[in-house]
Amino acid sequence: MERVYNFSPGPSALPLPVLEKVKEALPVYMDAGMSVMEMSHRSPMYQAIIDDTEARMRSLMHIPDTYAVLFLHGGATMQFASVPLNLGIKGEADYIDSGNFAHGAAGEAAKYLKVNTVASSREDTYTYIPDWKGKLNPDADYLHITTNNTIYGTHYVELPEGNAPLVADMSSNILGEAYDINKFGVIYAGAQKNIGPAGLCVLIVRKDLLGHASPLCPKVLNWTTQAENGSMLNTPNTFGIYVAGLCMQWLQEQGGVEGIEKVNKEKAAMLYDFLDNSKVFTATAKKEFRSIMNVTFVTGDKEKDAAFVKFAASQGLVNLKGHRSVGGMRASIYNAMPIEGVKKLVETLKAFEANA
Ligand SMILES: *Cc1c(COP(=O)(O)O)cnc(C)c1O
Repeated sequence: MERVYNFSPGPSALPLPVLEKVKEALPVYMDAGMSVMEMSHRSPMYQAIIDDTEARMRSLMHIPDTYAVLFLHGGATMQFASVPLNLGIKGEADYIDSGNFAHGAAGEAAKYLKVNTVASSREDTYTYIPDWKGKLNPDADYLHITTNNTIYGTHYVELPEGNAPLVADMSSNILGEAYDINKFGVIYAGAQKNIGPAGLCVLIVRKDLLGHASPLCPKVLNWTTQAENGSMLNTPNTFGIYVAGLCMQWLQEQGGVEGIEKVNKEKAAMLYDFLDNSKVFTATAKKEFRSIMNVTFVTGDKEKDAAFVKFAASQGLVNLKGHRSVGGMRASIYNAMPIEGVKKLVETLKAFEANA
């Protein structure tokens, strides 16, 4: 069977050349006599793999030495608890409620400290990024945002700037959009959207924020302990880190984050341009905040939505169904989705519209 165009929000498509490299290195990686999956995480050969992955991450995001890069477990969700446990010194933090994951992060943090929801678009089904200006607390331990809202298809066009360190859940647009790392105290991301396979979380933390974890913080969640142990306090997701490194190498060959961002913008523009001129389909996110990673749209009729998803699947375009909480359609067009896939999607939308 041929490969399909997979528009899944996560786990998501991986670049084909990466999958081929993984295959080549099975069952034997280089001269190891075994695969990466079977290798000790304490072996020099594996150390070289994790060091290489970190170096690529640093190069792609221009991460200076004043930040630590950690490879952790538990996806992004684990960090919803780790963030307050590592940063909640004074016991109060600001959260911007821009989507379901942002809401979940705040809910988890509320178990450990006082959460100020400084702005929310929940009442409007999160179709935009709410306005935080003039609402931030100068004494907060940190301000938490979700840079790209995977379910609703919105992203920040401007980053909040306040006294408190900015903590960002960047799960669905890390490595897909360029950011100035110096604006952030902490960035974390589940790997399965734009980094590599699921089950891994990459966390970037400014080193001056280390050393303040709560005594109750479990040691696997303690960033300081993890940094001191090179992300090997216990056995890390060795294979996931290896595949993430291959994805990063592929991304470097595409011109890095700046190079792929241009392509990502082109892909998104192609889709939004079609949707804005369509008589059948409408984009759901407010124009100003439209994500370039997750494009959400509807026909306005549930049966027609379902018919389109089915028709698209018959054309080899899969996982276009919107999140169960919002319905409609969502095309997740992360780095590994080639421009040809988006072109094919537009053709398919046109064909459906012609017959509707
Ligand atoms: C997917 C996603 C998550 C959840 O990630 P897990 O790795 O499943 O924990 C959290 N935040 C955002 C923004 C996401 O897109």
